[in-house]
Amino acid sequence: MNKDSSNIMALAPNTSNKRETVCIFGTGDFGRALGHKMIQSGYRVVFGSRNPQTSSLIPKDAEVLSHAEAAQKAAIIIIAIQRQHYNFLIPLAEILHGKVLVDVSNNLKINEYPESNAEYLAQLVPGAKVVKAFNTVSAWALQSGTLDASRQVFVCGDDMKAKQMVMDIVRALGLTPSDQGSLLAAQEIENYPLQLFPMWKFPILLSLGLTAFFFFYCLIRDIIYPYVYENTDFSFFIAISIPNRICPVLALILLALVYLPGVLAAIIQLYRGTKYHRFPDWLDKWMLCRKQLGLVALAFASLHVLYTLVIPIRYFVRWRMSSQIISQALNNKTAPLNNTYAWLSDSYVALGILGFFLFVLLGITSLPSVSNNVNWREFRFVQSKLGYVTLILCTAHTLVYGGNRFLSPSSYRWYLPNAYMLSLIVPCIVLVVKFVLIFPCLDKPLTRIRQGWERNPQYSE
Ligand code: NAP
Repeated sequence: MNKDSSNIMALAPNTSNKRETVCIFGTGDFGRALGHKMIQSGYRVVFGSRNPQTSSLIPKDAEVLSHAEAAQKAAIIIIAIQRQHYNFLIPLAEILHGKVLVDVSNNLKINEYPESNAEYLAQLVPGAKVVKAFNTVSAWALQSGTLDASRQVFVCGDDMKAKQMVMDIVRALGLTPSDQGSLLAAQEIENYPLQLFPMWKFPILLSLGLTAFFFFYCLIRDIIYPYVYENTDFSFFIAISIPNRICPVLALILLALVYLPGVLAAIIQLYRGTKYHRFPDWLDKWMLCRKQLGLVALAFASLHVLYTLVIPIRYFVRWRMSSQIISQALNNKTAPLNNTYAWLSDSYVALGILGFFLFVLLGITSLPSVSNNVNWREFRFVQSKLGYVTLILCTAHTLVYGGNRFLSPSSYRWYLPNAYMLSLIVPCIVLVVKFVLIFPCLDKPLTRIRQGWERNPQYSE
């Protein structure tokens, strides 16, 4: 049998061998969608409803009975009903004794109740074995079959056998169960679908704050200063020039901030002489959102590339070039080719192109579909080694751009240096500390600490 045909066999539901009967309480959107999917996968489905009548909406191979009748037909009962209606289960406690109750419910707010819905269900029906599952899958995804993004189903429960039974159903539906442990994990599982891009909050707030700061900084230096001293109106710089100053500055700072926590973690581990002590909370959180910081940095770098590409077609640039040519012609003077400037300009552009290329490569390898296909060593090689090369190239790109202007007094307006000079502070700190850390006298103990060696066992938890 060829490989393709075996894959097709694996995907096709086994409808010839009927699986066990599963009961679903509630004929709402989720109950119906799950019931439909289960019937497709070969299960017999019986619905328990307040109104035990079939309708055109109910999957046609399913039975609809009263709650009590339906519960007696199956060992597993899926409660597809909102938590606030769970009270109706109390009179059914005797029938539900020993049954596996699957809590699929979600709340409207994070930590809405003191205990999770699943724990509340276990308190209401103490004789039943409660398992939390399916709450991260939507009725729409079940119905439309677009489960690619949410194939993972978190499962937790105190009874191992009951949890196994539910995980078997999850697998039979073509989904991937992820055992999260005991019912204590239910609160976290219930909070999961309510989180709004939790890892993006810090990178986005930070980049908004930095954007506002550098916008006003450039406004003062590049628009207000010339207006005050030269009575020149450069307010149109707001459209392209200032964004094209902010974007590379932010890209470089955020990229350096991706690598700064790793360097800080290394210093902390060296100081403590152990890796078995938790990092401070702020560092842990910072480390967890490095990928998002890197992606925001890449977005700013891409904008910088676009803004730079339009420079030749800008009216102001064309006007300035033609004015220079006319003034040279009027004065009968030509500027000779300055080889140093030519080298500086080409090197700065070349470093920028290479830096951006590696930046894009880093972004691509951080995508789950790509990172899932490389092993841990390959992933670390790209994200750490190539990441540092990217940081070096982008820092060098900015340094060469500055050229010999760093010490020139004309670069300072109201004592304020150019924004790109400020952007070099964090990357230079990261690169210098990283350079120091690769000296064998520090690298060797750090490697040993990361392999589990402890210098100061009193720090271990
Ligand atoms: P729904 O469309 O409002 O259906 C809820 C069902 O609960 C009703 O159809 C009704 O079924 C039953 N019900 C309502 N009031 C009741 C009461 N007082 N006593 C007993 N039963 C009552 O809600 P849903 O979207 O299907 O959601 C059901 C559960 O699945 C919720 O806990 C939800 O958090 C969870 N969930 C939903 C989704 C989703 O995408 N919709 C995704 C994940 C989890 P009968 O008329 O048959 O009695």
